[in-house]
Amino acid sequence: MNESTTDTGHGPALPDGAGDGTRAVRAGLPEPVKHEPTLPGPVFAAHFHLPGDPTGPYTYGRDENPTWTLLERAVGELEAPGQDGVETLVFASGMAAISSVLFSQLRAGDAVVLPDDGYQALPLVRAQLETYGIEVRTAPTGGDAQLEVLDGAKLLWIETPSNPGLDVCDVRRLAEAAHARGALVAVDNTLATPLGQRPLELGADFAVASGTKQLTGHGDVLLGYVVGRDAEAMAAVRRWRKIVGAIPGPMEAWLAHRSIATLQLRVDRQNATALTLARALRERSEVTGLRYPGLSDDPSHTIASQQMRGFGCVVSFTLPSRERADRFLGALRLVDDATSFGGVRSTAERRGRWGGDAVPEGFIRFSVGAEDPEDLVADVLRALDESAV
Ligand SMILES: *Cc1c(COP(=O)(O)O)cnc(C)c1O
Repeated sequence: MNESTTDTGHGPALPDGAGDGTRAVRAGLPEPVKHEPTLPGPVFAAHFHLPGDPTGPYTYGRDENPTWTLLERAVGELEAPGQDGVETLVFASGMAAISSVLFSQLRAGDAVVLPDDGYQALPLVRAQLETYGIEVRTAPTGGDAQLEVLDGAKLLWIETPSNPGLDVCDVRRLAEAAHARGALVAVDNTLATPLGQRPLELGADFAVASGTKQLTGHGDVLLGYVVGRDAEAMAAVRRWRKIVGAIPGPMEAWLAHRSIATLQLRVDRQNATALTLARALRERSEVTGLRYPGLSDDPSHTIASQQMRGFGCVVSFTLPSRERADRFLGALRLVDDATSFGGVRSTAERRGRWGGDAVPEGFIRFSVGAEDPEDLVADVLRALDESAV
């Protein structure tokens, strides 16, 4: 079968202590080859020439692809810099990555702890797990409440910051408690990106994410990944990818790798503007329930500053009514009314329209893009004024 740590030639080693921007632009690049491009283009292949015994690395396109190999290396370098024995697998979407961990690790009779305020598709996953005889327990992210229901669990699933509520839990504390009980720990790192938070360094066994959001950042690719340090567990995740076939297309994988080169630029810009916007919203009387982990008085700020290197590009808040929220969204000129987050173009939506999250009708999830901060804040303040009547 395929060797997981396929080596097609690493690029030159980076200087010790290289910064995030340096690591992002070089992440996953192969050894320079004369007359070849810096980042080789997507390899479109369902099968590869394979005379004789079928040995890897590249045999069939559902198992491995050279474009994934480079992307997996890039993600691994960002999620777990300098850590040996870490493996990365890319998937067709964030949900494909999440499902691969849950469904490959859990068996009938096992118990799993999920957040009750996590990504909106988790309740669907919960129902599916339960049909297989897996016990699902849930608790909120805030206040490390998942600690209370850990006894006897096989796997702890953490999402921090949570989407869309932006609560943060103490990953180190939860991981220690879970490991003491023999449970594996997975962290959904979508919102923070690997530049904002490195779950493996905080003690998690898996960092899992949707690359659809800020990692790729242009709103044009669906992608997911799993990074893990336990070889046996990762072999099961790889096997799940193979039997379900939840693989990214080579074009998507290549676009993602290309986008990672600007990750640090985008994250720096978007996160800084998110803080500026949050501060501006704090001054508005019609805004309640404002959450941004980077605000010094946010309930998440203390733990977030201990374990995060950046606070993300999502700001959430509540307007007085559903009608007011709809008028606000309609009045915005620089912000698209759309779901998802993390793109270079700001988006916002009234989250209650989906019916999946436990949020007030006027709850807005706002994803800050790469616009000039003054323009964006002015647009938001004007839309708040215009939507008042
Ligand atoms: C979007 C999202 C997912 C799902 O990712 P897809 O790429 O849409 O499948 C999972 N977790 C979080 C926190 C997300 O925001």
